Amino acid sequence: MRELVVISGKGGTGKTSITASFAALSSEQVVAADCDVDAPDLQFVLRPTQRSEHDFCASEVAEVDSSLCDECGTCRDYCRFGAIDAAYRIDDVACEGCGLCELVCPRGAVQMREISSGCWFMSDSPCGPLVHARLNFGEGNSGKLVARVREAARVEARRIGADLILVDGPPGIGCPVIASIAGVSAALIVTEPSPSGLHDLRRVVQVCDHFSIPAAVCINRCDLDMQLTRRIAAVAQEEELSVLGHIPYDNNVTKAQMQKRSAVEYAGGPAADSIRELWGAVVELLNWRDDTE
Ligand code: SF4
Ligand code: SF4
Repeated sequence: MRELVVISGKGGTGKTSITASFAALSSEQVVAADCDVDAPDLQFVLRPTQRSEHDFCASEVAEVDSSLCDECGTCRDYCRFGAIDAAYRIDDVACEGCGLCELVCPRGAVQMREISSGCWFMSDSPCGPLVHARLNFGEGNSGKLVARVREAARVEARRIGADLILVDGPPGIGCPVIASIAGVSAALIVTEPSPSGLHDLRRVVQVCDHFSIPAAVCINRCDLDMQLTRRIAAVAQEEELSVLGHIPYDNNVTKAQMQKRSAVEYAGGPAADSIRELWGAVVELLNWRDDTE
């Protein structure tokens, strides 16, 4: 089973539109996984119907059993987060779940309890199954949720006999990105000709290098600044990465999004044509057989 992750060093480069287009273009069964759990938006293009919802628990907070507590104050003295009030009640928001109060309580009155950090969903879309998720506001466990989404996508792929998982990765280079790329077959880095696009491309290439992930580059909206596009291509060459696609700016992509469609489903146009060519190159990169070829 192959996994392709579509990532970008920065947000707003168009990776979700491209991932959705790949799902639409594949004539073989694929499973899509939206691993941008802080801002999931593949669902807005793939039009999923939710099949199931699952709680995701990755955090703990302390809880005091008042029948055992003798109000000695030890837990309050040790808690560095001010999460325990004068009546020895725990503030769930302030509690960081470190477990120190449980350790120091001489009466065994503190216990840690799991709390929900978000949800993940199994859905069906016209382009195949979609696994997506939502992290609760303020939660810091996005890497773990990404791992959960990827695992669910693998289970689903095995269930339906799909040989490819398309992962829409998060922007940046932090923990959720690392969780998204670990062990994938290849990464497609979507960038755009802007100074931040160039800067963030270098950073995300380093992350792929570090984890020995085969990577290739796609330059979206390439005609917005051809000079920067050439610089990006030069950086890719320095890094020994292929530039698999140049996608021109095309207003049809925005119109497609407004209609909740991927670029290739909505209408023709230069962007859709380039994404089709890109898909062919990605299939080759993955050494995958797709009957559209
Ligand atoms: S350390 Fe234990 S017994 Fe002492 S106040 Fe805290 S919960 Fe109560
Ligand atoms: S688990 Fe840590 S942060 Fe939470 S109340 Fe106990 S000591 Fe404070």
